[in-house]
Amino acid sequence: MQNYNLDLISKLQSSIPKDILGVLWQAHHLAQDSGQEVYLVGGAVRDLLLGSKQVDVDITIIGPAVDFAENLAEYTGGRVSSISQFGTVKLHVAGHTVDIATAREESYTAPGALPTVRPAPIIEIDLFRRDFTINAMAIGFIDQDQVELIDPWGGLSDLLQENVTVLHSKSFQDDPTRALRAVRYEQRLGFTIDPYTEHLMRQDLHYISEVSGERVWNEIERSLQEDHPEKVISRCQELGILKAIHPDFVVRGDIIELFQRLRIERGVHRANTRQYLCLVFVTIEPEKRQEVASRLRPPGKYLRLLRDLQTIDLLLPQLTRDSIGLDELYRCLRNLNDDALVAYYVWTDSALARERIDLYIGDLKDVRTSLNGKDVVALGVPEGPAVGEILQQLLYARIKGEIKTRPEEIEMAKSLAKETTA
Ligand code: ATP
Ligand code: MG
Repeated sequence: MQNYNLDLISKLQSSIPKDILGVLWQAHHLAQDSGQEVYLVGGAVRDLLLGSKQVDVDITIIGPAVDFAENLAEYTGGRVSSISQFGTVKLHVAGHTVDIATAREESYTAPGALPTVRPAPIIEIDLFRRDFTINAMAIGFIDQDQVELIDPWGGLSDLLQENVTVLHSKSFQDDPTRALRAVRYEQRLGFTIDPYTEHLMRQDLHYISEVSGERVWNEIERSLQEDHPEKVISRCQELGILKAIHPDFVVRGDIIELFQRLRIERGVHRANTRQYLCLVFVTIEPEKRQEVASRLRPPGKYLRLLRDLQTIDLLLPQLTRDSIGLDELYRCLRNLNDDALVAYYVWTDSALARERIDLYIGDLKDVRTSLNGKDVVALGVPEGPAVGEILQQLLYARIKGEIKTRPEEIEMAKSLAKETTA
């Protein structure tokens, strides 16, 4: 035990910045003064035991988190923000953010419903409401060179055996989004969903239909923020999770290669969530995308991207004509979001479509005129729609390469001005 504690101390030191570790000890002393207890919990403990160089610090207090966080902020020179629905508070201190929550017990009145929440009198009860054993451990603070691992549900053993295991047989009924979470940890950590957990998951998948789009979306978005989202998406498909979300949520078999290709084409280790989302949707059959999007209800910024994907499909005949003027290509694509275009580019087999999207993104979309509205007015054009029209003509001429310099623009603007005032 003693050795193990020493090991935890060094793990804390290597995973948590010194200042924040100091804040944790201050939190412990502050809690102790008022007869309370604080714990480091959840993903922080899991990642620290796995030897991560950086962990998100989550602490739980047996007692009201808001009051405690405010006292701790005063004590440490931090600032408190964003009090969530379950009373979780963020403490901004020493350039980092620490989440502070009240220990709570949860009970579910119906599958997929939000839980009824009560304060928990001991940490073990709070740990029992959690999703998987590897996320249901806490570290308690004793004194400066002593801490203890609180692991009532076998988290350490599952961590060592690389298993994702639920805490009880009703877990997926209580919260069906845990199916997505299980896959996320399995794929991120290279673990295995334990066979009984997989059995329960498959048996309870249908309860996902009871969960709001917003909650499902939240987990999908988090999956797309992983280093390798394609592994999560394709495993979700294999386990029947996507179909349980919506029967038309079927992605193309080569999604793994597509995601890899996206990263290679962009020269990045991690593409952005918007591009990944478009890549998922572009592999769903076009007439089914709308239904799936309506089920997931992503926020407006994502919905607009998905609409752009549909528009690119409609524009495809024009985009892949044997010949297309550069200005026409520009007009065709200018209102579309780059992320949707990039995903389409990665996905399409049409060499012409790829070539033209590449030309647009790499070149045409950034072409600007050197003259602005004021310059055109100074050339004698009366203020009004004619100014915008002239600027547009200049832009198209630049795009087509007909003019290249500011004097050429002035020349062209003058002759266009003559035509409008004639
Ligand atoms: P990540 O590294 O992906 O952020 P995490 O373990 O920190 O993983 P969070 O979603 O940030 O996960 O949640 C923090 C903790 O809250 C989890 O470790 C888990 O104990 C608990 N938790 C989160 N979501 C659920 C859920 N749907 N059901 C039960 N417990 C949950
Ligand atoms: Mg987290």
